[in-house]
Amino acid sequence: MKIGIVGGGISGLATAFYIRQAHPDVEIVLFEKAKTLGGKMSTKEVEGFFFEAGSNGFLSNKPDTLELVKLSNCEDILIKSNDNARKRFIYKDFLCPLPESPKAFLKSPLLSFTGKLRVAGEFFIPAKKDNSDETLQSFGYRRVGKEMTDVFLDAMVAGIFASKPDKISVNSAFPAVVKLEHEYGGLFRGMLAKKKKEAGPGGVLMSFEKGVSHFIERLASVANIEIYTNTCVERVDRCEQGYSIVTNDKETLCDKVILASPAFTSAQLIQNIDKQLAEILNDIEYSPISIVGFGYNSLGYDLDGFGLLTTSSANKEILGVLWDSSIFDGRAPKGKKSVRVMIGGQRNPTLALKSENELVAIAQKGIKETMGIDVTPDVVFVERYEKGIPNYRVGHGERMSKVFEILTQHKGLYLNSNAYFGVGLNDCVSNSKKCAQKVIEDL
Ligand SMILES: Cc1cc2nc3c(=O)[nH]c(=O)nc-3n(C[C@H](O)[C@H](O)[C@H](O)COP(=O)(O)OP(=O)(O)OC[C@H]3O[C@@H](n4cnc5c(N)ncnc54)[C@H](O)[C@@H]3O)c2cc1C
Repeated sequence: MKIGIVGGGISGLATAFYIRQAHPDVEIVLFEKAKTLGGKMSTKEVEGFFFEAGSNGFLSNKPDTLELVKLSNCEDILIKSNDNARKRFIYKDFLCPLPESPKAFLKSPLLSFTGKLRVAGEFFIPAKKDNSDETLQSFGYRRVGKEMTDVFLDAMVAGIFASKPDKISVNSAFPAVVKLEHEYGGLFRGMLAKKKKEAGPGGVLMSFEKGVSHFIERLASVANIEIYTNTCVERVDRCEQGYSIVTNDKETLCDKVILASPAFTSAQLIQNIDKQLAEILNDIEYSPISIVGFGYNSLGYDLDGFGLLTTSSANKEILGVLWDSSIFDGRAPKGKKSVRVMIGGQRNPTLALKSENELVAIAQKGIKETMGIDVTPDVVFVERYEKGIPNYRVGHGERMSKVFEILTQHKGLYLNSNAYFGVGLNDCVSNSKKCAQKVIEDL
């Protein structure tokens, strides 16, 4: 029995790991286009600063990633974010702390008195009768009002998905929030009921010493599989054994194939197998995003918190700034500081694709305008993603039902990546566990 995996991001690697755990003897071969494993989980060290090219970490309130860390013997490199990093900021017309309590919310200048009153009115808004999908904007306007949506939800969705409230499906991107409305009749009602049931601390942001790549390397080594990096899969064909994975210099015959590549790549790979499936996969939109990291040998600014997100109404070129060296210890050499700036997304897609020099200039300008820092960084890091984060549009759930219905006609072929059921690291790990379970059942 031979299993082929295309893509060595967390989805491919975690799936391989779970299958290996259940089946020490099955042959598993993984192909990764890039020189290194990890995909969007990738850390670059520049002069002692550790910059994340993508994922910063994961929240501890969902069990699967923590369990994977434990199963793969990586607990010794797991680190917790600093307590100060709970403080977050929103830049609307000025930098303002994100209120952390109802009292702070009432005092916050981020919303007008009527905006706050409208939020409180959520308690009395009847629940939507059906399960039909809608944008986050339409959900937000309906439940908490325009002001709350245009400030808080707008900044939040830029930070998580690099998206905009009017461009993303609430059902697919925020299923837990939709569930509160359906199960409890509203968000406040749901939160109150859940608080009673699930008393306990919320999640803490976790990561790894020297960055997420450290975890990826360790996970890959304990997965005990055959790995080919720098190897781009060109197509996957049907064959007598099951599937043939074709790269520029060889063909590998497998009984089962897991496509853990981005949806648009998987679409290309399976052109010969199922054109209709390929078409739907190709239609999954991705937001461009670029990350600019700055390291400062000496910076007289406190960076006391997690960082800031801007609102669309602020009209800034940056989506936000993560105060990296304050979030996790060890991201900057002792006494030095670092930040990462996010640019592009659905708000400003073309900005993400600017040249590296232009991106650095945009990031510097953004930091100056939002934080008042006008210091030339000593170290610079840039990562550009033309197709960075999947943007689940309205109707995504229905399209995914169709994808996975079609997939049942292709025995031995599996799809697993952040394109389908969640983009967070926690989602990718949970979905990899589910995908591995399905493969194991089919063995
Ligand atoms: C800028 C940014 C910041 C983020 N921040 C966070 C965060 O803080 N917390 C969080 O939980 N999530 C975050 N995410 C999301 C999270 O990192 C990703 O959703 C997750 O890492 C995706 O993993 P994946 O394995 O599904 O896909 P990918 O990481 O995209 O992996 C797919 C792999 O397939 C490979 N591949 C592509 N084509 C081929 C081919 N033809 N042949 C062989 N290999 C191929 C690619 O090179 C890649 O390695 C962030 C994402 C981005 C872009």
